[in-house]
Parts: sequence; structure tokens; C-alpha cells
Amino acid sequence: MRFIIKILIPFILCSNNSFAGQYVLGTAYYLGNEGVMIVGKHKKILFDPIFDKNYQRFTLVPEKLKLKVLGNIAPFNNIDAIFISHSHADHFDEKDLFSYLLKYQNVQLIAPKQAIDKLKLLPGYKKITKQLHEISMKIGEQPIEISFDGVQIEVVRIPHVGWPKRTDVENLVYRVTLDDFTVMHLGDSDINPEHYLPLSSFWSKKASHHAFIPGVFAVNTNSEQSVKERLNLKRITHIHIPMNVPDKLKELKVDFFSIPNEIREITGMGSSELKL
Ligand SMILES: [Zn+2]
Repeated sequence: MRFIIKILIPFILCSNNSFAGQYVLGTAYYLGNEGVMIVGKHKKILFDPIFDKNYQRFTLVPEKLKLKVLGNIAPFNNIDAIFISHSHADHFDEKDLFSYLLKYQNVQLIAPKQAIDKLKLLPGYKKITKQLHEISMKIGEQPIEISFDGVQIEVVRIPHVGWPKRTDVENLVYRVTLDDFTVMHLGDSDINPEHYLPLSSFWSKKASHHAFIPGVFAVNTNSEQSVKERLNLKRITHIHIPMNVPDKLKELKVDFFSIPNEIREITGMGSSELKL
């Protein structure tokens, strides 16, 4: 009996953490619309987590979940950084975000100038200026890099969906390495390949274990593979999905987040796999 237990225990442990050589490196929690929390071994970050409009189209963060996030309640506690893709109201609410940053002064905010400008209009914003990392980039500008305390961040500006209209919207793509894996969040990026081709060396420089990209990128049966190749992505979960999930998206059998509290494991071949 003891012999069987000795054999079974390593097998059970192994099956929890790896599958066909894949290891669980982190976890992604879905909040709503493009809101995602990424949890690594030591670090936790949020993308577009605090907003209050959905234009009757996209998923809001349910009130109960929002209270947990705003209240620093596990697993949404001890956040290291918040990333804002752009300042549209289905991604960003300056008042709630301001209160959050004021309450939790270890949390860093990385956001485009247009979002920071909205925060600056609020009385008392000077109390959070040390937490703010303002990104001011032009379309076509070379990627920029920031890092702090175990989080490496690369940022590029890609035009907002609907291009060539709305080029004034500062929409940022973040590639973030925390602990031993890399994630990418595309915000409301436009799909046109001409935005991505000039940045080919940026994409090829580092693979992303998991990317969160708008549902409009799922166009046909080949589109997922071509986006993976172009942007150097291992796995994709689509976000920014209408509440009534389009039949076309279901038919394509691509992965997507549409129900808050959904979870995805972020997997890889181990910590050395993607290092260059
Ligand atoms: Zn938008």
C-alpha cells in the first residue's frame, strides 16, 4: 500500500502543475469587458479593471466583484500595478480609480496621457502623483520600456479600432513580464496589419505566453494563427465581447472571456522557455 502511495503522490502533484510538459505559470481572472487580473507567483496586475459604462453592449464588472476589487479583498488584494489601455468609459473611470489609488498607495498606475489628464482634474490628485506613470506616445513611435520591482513593461501605441477614424485616441498595447511569464493586452487596438508590420522586431524580440485581444480579431478560421505568428503569442483569450456573444465567434471555437469570474491558467514550458 505504502509503495502505491509513493508512486501516486508524485503523479498527482505533477498532474496539478504540468500537462504534457506544460507548467502553470500564472492565472488570469476575468472581471468584465477588457478587465483582467493577472496573478503570478509574487506579482499581481490589473488591466482596465475599473469602469462604469458598457454602452449597453459589453460586460460590466458585476457589483459584487467590483466591491471585491475596490475593497482589496482576496484574491484581488495586494495589487502591484494597474494598466489602462485608453481613457474610454468602458475601460476607465477616473473617480473610482482615484479613490482606489488614494487608498492603496503601493499600487502603480500605468496609463496614457489622456487618462492621466482626467485624473489631474480631480481635487486631491497630487496625493497620488508618485504612483502615476504617464505614457505619452505618438502612433508609429518606437516602443518604450519601463520596469519597477520585478515587473518589466513594454508599451506601443496602436490606433483604436475604427481606424482611420478616432486616431486621436491614445490606445496602448502592453507587454508585461512578471515573475517568469509574459502577457499582452491589446486594449481596443485596430486589426489592420499595417499597424503591426513596422513593429516586427518588437514582436519577435519576446514571446507572450498569453494575450488578451479584442474579439473583432477573430475574423475567420485562419485569423487566430496569423495573429499568433505576427505578434509572437502562445495563447489568446479574446475580450471585449458583446454581452450577446456573436454566433460567429462561437463557431470559430476561439477562446474568449464573456462571463466575469472566469479563469484561465497561463501555461508554459517552464521559466527558461522564453528567455533570450
Ligand atoms: Zn475604446
